[in-house]
Amino acid sequence: MEQEPKRTRSDTVTVKAIINNAIKRLENEGKLLTPDAYMDAFCKESTKAGVRVEDCMLVENLKNTLNREFQKELEKYSIRTISELARFLISKLNRTNPTHCSTLLESQTVFTKRVLQVVEILHNKEAEQLARKSIDLLSREASATEIDQYRQLWVNFITTYDDSFLQKLKTLGDIDSKDLKNSVLNLKLLSSVNKDMNSLELSLISSLLVSSLVPSIASSVNDKIANLSQRIQDNPRILESKDIESEIKSAISLRIALDKQSVNEMLESLDGVLDKPSIRLIEMIESSDSSTVEIQKIKNELELYNLQDNSNFNTAHKKLYTIALALEENTQNLSKDLRNHSLEVKVLNKKIETLENELLNAKEESREDFLTKLYNKRALDEFINIKEAEYGRHGHDFSIIMFDLDHFKVINDTYGHDAGDAVLTAFAKMLKNLTRSVDIVGRFGGEEFIAILSKTDAKGAANFAEKVREHVQKAHFMYKGERIAVTVSCGVSERARHTSLQALLKSADEYLYTAKRNGRNQVAYKK
Ligand code: GH3
Ligand code: MG
Ligand code: MG
Repeated sequence: MEQEPKRTRSDTVTVKAIINNAIKRLENEGKLLTPDAYMDAFCKESTKAGVRVEDCMLVENLKNTLNREFQKELEKYSIRTISELARFLISKLNRTNPTHCSTLLESQTVFTKRVLQVVEILHNKEAEQLARKSIDLLSREASATEIDQYRQLWVNFITTYDDSFLQKLKTLGDIDSKDLKNSVLNLKLLSSVNKDMNSLELSLISSLLVSSLVPSIASSVNDKIANLSQRIQDNPRILESKDIESEIKSAISLRIALDKQSVNEMLESLDGVLDKPSIRLIEMIESSDSSTVEIQKIKNELELYNLQDNSNFNTAHKKLYTIALALEENTQNLSKDLRNHSLEVKVLNKKIETLENELLNAKEESREDFLTKLYNKRALDEFINIKEAEYGRHGHDFSIIMFDLDHFKVINDTYGHDAGDAVLTAFAKMLKNLTRSVDIVGRFGGEEFIAILSKTDAKGAANFAEKVREHVQKAHFMYKGERIAVTVSCGVSERARHTSLQALLKSADEYLYTAKRNGRNQVAYKK
């Protein structure tokens, strides 16, 4: 410490001054004047004075010779002085116990050897070889590289180890991969039991066999199959005999054949069922006016379907599916069309409704009989009322004649309804021609006619009726070259002879009835 500090600059700072400053520093910092504290203060002061002292660099230089780990530790403990460094190194040395290390290493090696000996007998060829070689390795002074090589081999073994093969043994019994010994014992137990349980197993197999011989689709069992099944059921031991093998084979073939036959029958009946709607559909399409492309497509599909051998479900399914799709598409188009036209239809319906109403009104307003073109009942009622009013107001008398063709039903029945119509028309014409222009004639309904004769009494009216009757009797009513004999009966009544219009009409009707009752083809009235 007393050595001469190296001067790096020739200033006025002396060693003595540095020493004094170091002592002052210690005083200021309240530290005791120990050699370490003094050395620290002296080094700080000499650095401050720009003087390099070799002793002050000593700890730093020694530190640099240590390995990096130790250097870090020295930094951590803030080791600055030689004595601190010495204490640190001594404590390190004290902690290192070579005797303890080798003992530990030796016992670990022995332990590893024992583990490897166990692995060696664990029934795994690969592990056994690797364990043996590892034991050799530990028995001699192997290098670190060699040990590392074997460590890697063990890693390889453990990463490729696969005991899934044990799962394959599951069929033999309950295999526990963690407890192979017991698993194997269980296997033994099972196989020894197997010998005793042969008959039990046989009966199990026999019942399975019998149920597998029953056709799954066909509804009936063949006698041969039934017989064999019964025999197996009665005595499962017959399965042990060699002869039964061929019998079972042929029974299985028979069972398959029965099922096949059933499937074919089902398909045939299905075809029958499918044919009906498809034929109907084709007929409908044929009769349809709208032979659109889609409809033609459906038709072709259906025809194709009928021609095909439909023993194949898939083909039938595919065809029907295509047909269904085409029908669906067509129906959709149709409903679209219908929707588009529904407005038009609504308008047309409205028009029809209006026309129907108009027709109804026209009918109601019509005064002309559609067949004979004479006045109809409606018009006749009006005229009668007018005549009645005139009679009431002015006393203008009038008469009514009721005409009814005789046995007209017979004419219809004999010559037909058209002939009847022709007779009615001809009679109407005749009636019209024979009346005066002031008189009114009309068809009252069916084969009944009425004449309203103004200012005419019963006698005058009866004369006119008689004239008509005669004409009718003599007339040649011809229909399709054949003469139809026609006669007419008449009832006559005069208004002035009755108290009311109703009484007048009733009377005319009664006289008509009288004429009929008295033999027809005549005129009846109150003389
Ligand atoms: P009667 O001598 O007692 O009058 O016998 P009838 O057969 O003439 O009388 P009935 O009342 O039994 O039958 C009348 C027939 O007249 C029945 C009906 O079918 C027929 N008739 C009614 N109106 C028409 C028509 O417009 N055309 C035709 N062809 N026949 C009609
Ligand atoms: Mg009649
Ligand atoms: Mg008649």
